[in-house]
Amino acid sequence: MNQLISFPYQHVLVLGLAKSGTAACEILADNGCLVKANDLNAQLDDPSIIRLKKLGIEVVTGGHPLSLLENIDVIVKNPGIPYENMLVKEALNRNIPVITEIELVQYLTRNQIIGITGSNGKTTTTTLIHEMLTNSQQANKIAGNIGMVAAEVASTLKNKETLVVELSSFQLMGTTTFQPKIAVLLNLFQAHLDYHHTFENYQYAKAQIFSNQDKNDFIIYNADDVNVVEVVQTAKSTRIPFSTKQYLPNGAWCDESYIYFKDQAIIARSEIRLVGKHNLENILASIASCLLAGGTVEGIKQVLTTFTGVKHRLQYIRNYNERLFYNDSKATNIVATSKAISSFNHPVVLLAGGLDRGNSFDELIPYLHAVKTLIVFGETANKIEEAGKKAGINSIIHVETMQQAVEKAYAHSNERDVILLSPACASWDQYRTFEERGDMFVKAVHTL
Ligand code: ADP
Repeated sequence: MNQLISFPYQHVLVLGLAKSGTAACEILADNGCLVKANDLNAQLDDPSIIRLKKLGIEVVTGGHPLSLLENIDVIVKNPGIPYENMLVKEALNRNIPVITEIELVQYLTRNQIIGITGSNGKTTTTTLIHEMLTNSQQANKIAGNIGMVAAEVASTLKNKETLVVELSSFQLMGTTTFQPKIAVLLNLFQAHLDYHHTFENYQYAKAQIFSNQDKNDFIIYNADDVNVVEVVQTAKSTRIPFSTKQYLPNGAWCDESYIYFKDQAIIARSEIRLVGKHNLENILASIASCLLAGGTVEGIKQVLTTFTGVKHRLQYIRNYNERLFYNDSKATNIVATSKAISSFNHPVVLLAGGLDRGNSFDELIPYLHAVKTLIVFGETANKIEEAGKKAGINSIIHVETMQQAVEKAYAHSNERDVILLSPACASWDQYRTFEERGDMFVKAVHTL
């Protein structure tokens, strides 16, 4: 296990005991810190809590008493806990730093770190970079928002292993010295404003991915996104742009036929399995990251000629009687669904609907012109039907279950059609998670 190097704090309060909080507690206790932990809902008889207590950690549940702040040097906060939390507010009042587990990574390893953030495309890009490095025989580990606690993985890194870490804005908000060798900023849309309140705060959080970098580090950024271009103006690191629209002598770009890094042709676009213009952006960012991190063109090619998508992200499922089925259950907003529909040159049968957040679907209308049949379900079924009618779709069908949705979609399709689950809504009205929704779709597709 790698130890914390020059960690400046001794008395630590870990706030929120989900997976990342529990891991942080263990790492900190293992490094001799005096740790207290606080979680509103944790059960004292939970095995993970019992384990923490055995390490000498005081665990307080059921509330957030301000007395917990006494003698505390730093708070390690779960990224999901808002800054309005009373304990967090009071800590900031008292000038106690509030960090997330990502900040610990900086003290646990001096290995090369590649950090990936953006409003959309993080998981896809993180996965691509990990696969490209692996296929280049470059030892690396994947972590972060994608499911593995970054600090935990960082503590197990071996010599020369690169850490490829997906970072959300919530995680980045709690960093002060985190300095990836290579940072990737994919795009910036209006998102998570319930947490960050203003777009400027959200931009600020995302900028933390490069704000501690120096000129020996790299920021790979989307030159086609005005919000991104604005934010990276302040970067001190070497800027490596990527673009699907323009020639870039010092970045990753493409023409109709090829993808290039600087002036080197990397791969013919016809060889790439992953569909979608948005994925082209993710691919450009991944190629730049992989080559700067020491990966090879061969490794990149091996991935791009075989990789058909991360689960639930415009993931190709199967060809059944000349219909192509795609699972894009992760598309929980209009932007993601519009990108998915635009990814195909063939008529689309779209399966959409889900949790009603009160918004209209008017912004989806221009994209719905490519849809021949619309299968709607969930709380937003009527709203999406309305948008479909405005887009001139004649064939709109209401269903209750995913099984019915897939059967109806198939019945209303022809050879060479794409049958796409891309709901434009969260799943919580009918499913526990978007993964469950996607799995139901895949199961129904396989039982046709
Ligand atoms: P994240 O991890 O940021 O949520 P994912 O890779 O999981 O991103 O993709 C989530 C959804 O966002 C996908 O369903 C896809 O349709 C869309 N998406 C992926 N990459 C991009 C991109 N570069 N720009 C816009 N939308 C994207």
